[in-house]
Amino acid sequence: MIYLDHAATTPVPGEVADTVRDTLVHQFGNPSSQYGIGREAKALVSRCRETVAQALGGQPGRLVFTSCGTESDNFAIRLAAWQGRHTGRHIITTAVEHSAVLEPCKQLEQEGCSVTYLKPDKNGNITAAQVAESLRADTVLVSVMLVNNETGCVFPLREISDVLKSAGSKALLHTDAVQGFLKVPFRADTLGADLISVSGHKIGAPKGVGALYLGARVNAEQAKKHALLAGGGQENGLRSGTEATAQLAGFAKAVELRCAALDEALAHMAAIKQYALEQLLAIDGVVRVGDGAAPHVLAVSLVGYPSANIVEDLSAQGICVSAGSACHRGKASHVYEAMNLPKKVQSGVLRVSFGPETQESDIDALAAALKRHRDTRFPML
Ligand code: PLP
Repeated sequence: MIYLDHAATTPVPGEVADTVRDTLVHQFGNPSSQYGIGREAKALVSRCRETVAQALGGQPGRLVFTSCGTESDNFAIRLAAWQGRHTGRHIITTAVEHSAVLEPCKQLEQEGCSVTYLKPDKNGNITAAQVAESLRADTVLVSVMLVNNETGCVFPLREISDVLKSAGSKALLHTDAVQGFLKVPFRADTLGADLISVSGHKIGAPKGVGALYLGARVNAEQAKKHALLAGGGQENGLRSGTEATAQLAGFAKAVELRCAALDEALAHMAAIKQYALEQLLAIDGVVRVGDGAAPHVLAVSLVGYPSANIVEDLSAQGICVSAGSACHRGKASHVYEAMNLPKKVQSGVLRVSFGPETQESDIDALAAALKRHRDTRFPML
C-alpha cells in the first residue's frame, strides 16, 4: 500500500503501539484511585501532560486532555462564547475551517450569536487585515486555523493576535492547530492564541485523544461551569471522564518520537512535497490548487476528471489519497468552493499529504497512476 493521506490520519509507529499495549496491560489503574496502581496511573497522566505541553511550548497546568481535535475545537468555541457573553455575541472565523469549528459556530448562530465567515483568496489564504476589517466592539471570539487541512495554507496567527491587541479587543483568539502541531513549528506562549486545539492521530498517536491549551486570558474557573463533560471533575474540572491513560501514553510517546527527529522530518516532508509538485505538475492536465506552505499537504487537480473516480481508481491500485478532508466522505469540499475555483478544477481536486515515512517512489507510483487515469478514463463534459 502507498499511503499519501497523512492529513487524514497517520500510521502508528510500533513503539507507540507497544507503549499503548504496555499501559493497557500493566498500568490499568484508574488515576483517581487512592492505591498504588491508581497513583501510578495519575503520575503517568501528569508525565504525558508535561511531554505534550513542552512540545506545544506551554505550561502543563494549562493543558486539558480531550478525546480528539473535534472536542477541543467545540470546547474552545463554547468556552470563548461563554466567557465573552457580557461583551457581545459576534464571532469571526473563516469559511475554510474544519467542520469541527464550523458546526459549533452554526450551533451558536442558532442560539443568537452572529458569525462572520472570512473568505479566502483564490490561493486559499486569509489575511490579518480581513480580521481587522470584520472586528467589532462585540466580537468575543476569533477562530482561525493554523494550517488548512485541504490546501496546507498557513494562516497568520501572530499577525491576527497583533490586530486584536492593537484594537484593544477583548475577543479570545482560538486556533485549530490540528494540522499545524509538529508540522509548522510554533510555541503556545508566543503564538498569540488564547486557545489552541491539537489532535494525536495526525502525528502518529492513536485516534481518540487530543488536547486543548488554555492561555492566560482564559478564565479556567469560569470555564469549569461550562465544561462539555461534567462529572467526576477530572482534568481539573474542565473535562470529566476517567482519563484514557493508554491513549495518553501513546500520544506522549508519539510526541516524543516526532520531537526527537523534528527538523529532519520537516525537511524530509518539505523535500518530498517539492518532488511531488515537480512530478505531478509535469503531467499534462494537472494544476496546483492553492499555495499552501505547510510541508505535509499538497492540493492539485486533474482538471475535469471527477476526483471521486480518481480516488477510487487509485485505491484499486493500492494508493491512498483523498479528494479533500476525509470528513467530507465524497461531498463537495467547502474549502475549494470558498476559493472560487473554476468548476472543472474543483471537480478534479486531490489532496496528497506526506509523513516522515513517505518516499519519492511513492510519488512516482502516484504520478504514473494519475497519467494512466487521464489516458484511460473519460473526463466530465
Ligand atoms: N481540525 C482539523 C484541521 C482537522 O484536519 C481535523 C481532522 O481531520 C480535525 C480538526 C478533527 O480532529 P479529530 O479527528 O481528532 O477529531
